[in-house]
Amino acid sequence: MTRQFDAIIVGAGQAGPPLARRLTGAGMNVALVERKFFGGTCVNTGCTPTKTLVASARALHVARRARDFGVTIEGSIGVDMRRVKARAERNVVSFREGVRRSLVENPRCTVLTGQAKFESRDTIRVGNELLSSERIFLNVGGRAFVPPLKGVEGVPFLTNTTMLQLDTVPRHLVVVGGSYVGLEFAQMYRRFGSEVTVIEKGPRLIGREDEDVSTAIKEILGGEGIAFRLEAECIAFSKASDGIQVHVDCATGDRTVMGTHVLLAVGRRSNTDDLGLDHAGVQVDARGNIPVDDELRTNVPGIWALGDCNGRGAFTHTAYNDFEIVAANLLDGDARRLSDRITAYALYIDPPLGRGGLTEAEARQSGKKLLVGTRPMSHVSRAIEKDETQGFMKIVVDAESKKIVGAAILGTGGDEVVHGILDVMYAGAPYTTLQRSVGIHPTVSELIPTVLGELTPLT
Ligand SMILES: Cc1cc2nc3c(=O)[nH]c(=O)nc-3n(C[C@H](O)[C@H](O)[C@H](O)COP(=O)(O)OP(=O)(O)OC[C@H]3O[C@@H](n4cnc5c(N)ncnc54)[C@H](O)[C@@H]3O)c2cc1C
Repeated sequence: MTRQFDAIIVGAGQAGPPLARRLTGAGMNVALVERKFFGGTCVNTGCTPTKTLVASARALHVARRARDFGVTIEGSIGVDMRRVKARAERNVVSFREGVRRSLVENPRCTVLTGQAKFESRDTIRVGNELLSSERIFLNVGGRAFVPPLKGVEGVPFLTNTTMLQLDTVPRHLVVVGGSYVGLEFAQMYRRFGSEVTVIEKGPRLIGREDEDVSTAIKEILGGEGIAFRLEAECIAFSKASDGIQVHVDCATGDRTVMGTHVLLAVGRRSNTDDLGLDHAGVQVDARGNIPVDDELRTNVPGIWALGDCNGRGAFTHTAYNDFEIVAANLLDGDARRLSDRITAYALYIDPPLGRGGLTEAEARQSGKKLLVGTRPMSHVSRAIEKDETQGFMKIVVDAESKKIVGAAILGTGGDEVVHGILDVMYAGAPYTTLQRSVGIHPTVSELIPTVLGELTPLT
C-alpha cells in the first residue's frame, strides 16, 4: 500500500528539517526520509566537528605561543587526541540529536530511516514502503569525491568523514587538495603535531580566491611549517613499508612524498546517483547536480532541489537559505529568489578568511571601473594588541554606482568582520554609508570605514 503525504522531504541536512517544521506548521502531513545521520554533512562530518577541532588546535597553538604574551606554562604542552576527538563527538551527537528530536516529536512529521529512491514522478520507495506526494523536496547533499587517481584504490586513504575517526596524531599527513577542506585539516593537524604536506595540482592554493589572498594564506600556513607541492600533475599512490608514497610529477622538488596518512580533499559530489532520478524524469547536469530555477524548482513540476545537491551553493547557510526561499514562495506569498543571494563564506584556518561578493578577479571581468581599498592587519590596532597581525583586508567598489562588489577579510575575526560589509551590500547602500559609520575601538571592523576612505582606482 502506498502512503499519501502532502509533502515528502528526502534528506535531513540543512534545508529538510526546517522545511518540515514550516510545512507541518502550515497544516501539512510530511514524510521525511533520512538514510544515515540527522543533520547531514554539516552536523556530522563537516562544519560542527571541524570547527570544534579547529578550536582545539588553536588552543594548542596559543598555549605554545604563551611566552609571546608574557605567560609562563610549567611543563610540556601536549595534546590528548582522544579527548580532542571526544569533544568534537559531544558537539556532533548533541546537534544531531537536536535535529532528530525536533523531527520525531513533530506529530505531523513521519520520519523514516533508509535510502529513498524514486519509483515514479510522485512515488518514493524506502525499503518496503512506498510514499507518494505531489510535492517532493530533495535535500540529499553530497559526499567527498574520490578521483580516479592511479593507485588510489590500493592505499588506505582518508576523507573528511574518516579523518574524524582518528584519535592519534599522524606522523606525516599528506593532504591532497589545497582548497577549503584540505587547508583546514592541514593546519589543525600541523598544530596537533603532524608533519603536513599539501599537494595541489594548481599553481596556487585555493585557486578560486585572488592571487594576493592565496599568497598570504600560503605564507601563514608555511610559517607554521606546512610543506606544499604545487603544480602537482599525475598524482599517484603506492604502498610503502612504512606508509604511503604519493607520486607527484611537479615542476620542482622531489617526485615523491612519503606519508603515514593521506587525506583526499579534492572536492565533493552530489548524492544524486542513487536516487532513481531517471524514474521521475529529474535532470542532472554533467557534475551530478540537479539544475534548479530561481525558486529551487527542478525541471519536473512539484519537485524541488535544495542545498548542495543543486550546485548553487556549497555551504550550510546557502542550504538553509534555499529552505527560506522555498518556504517564502510556497507558504508566505513572498517572492524570495536565489539570485538575490550574495556569495559569502569563510575559510576556517586561523586567522580565518571571511569573503563576501565577488573576488577582485571576478569583478574585473565585469569590465566596470573599480575602486579598491586594502589594509594589512599589521596596521590594525586590535590585531597588534592580540599579536595576530597576519593577513589583510580588501574591499572592491563599483566606481560608478558606489556599491561594494566584494570583500576579502583575511585576519583575526575576518569571518565576523565581513558581515558588516555584507549587510551594506544587502541594503543596496553605497559604500559611503559604511564609510561614515563610527565603529567601536579597538575592533578590526572600526578600520573598514578607513579602508573605504582610501579607495584608489583599480588599474
Ligand atoms: C569538512 C567540511 C567542512 C565544512 N565546513 C563548513 C563550514 O564551516 N561552513 C559551511 O557553511 N559549510 C561547511 N561545509 C559544507 C556544509 O557541510 C554543506 O554545505 C552542508 O552540509 C550542505 O547541506 P545540505 O542540506 O545540502 O546536505 P547535507 O548536509 O549533506 O545533508 C544531506 C542528507 O541527505 C541524506 N541523503 C542523501 N541521499 C539520501 C537518500 N537517497 N535517501 C535518504 N537520505 C539521503 C544524507 O544522509 C544527509 O543526511 C563543510 C563541509 C565539509 C565536508
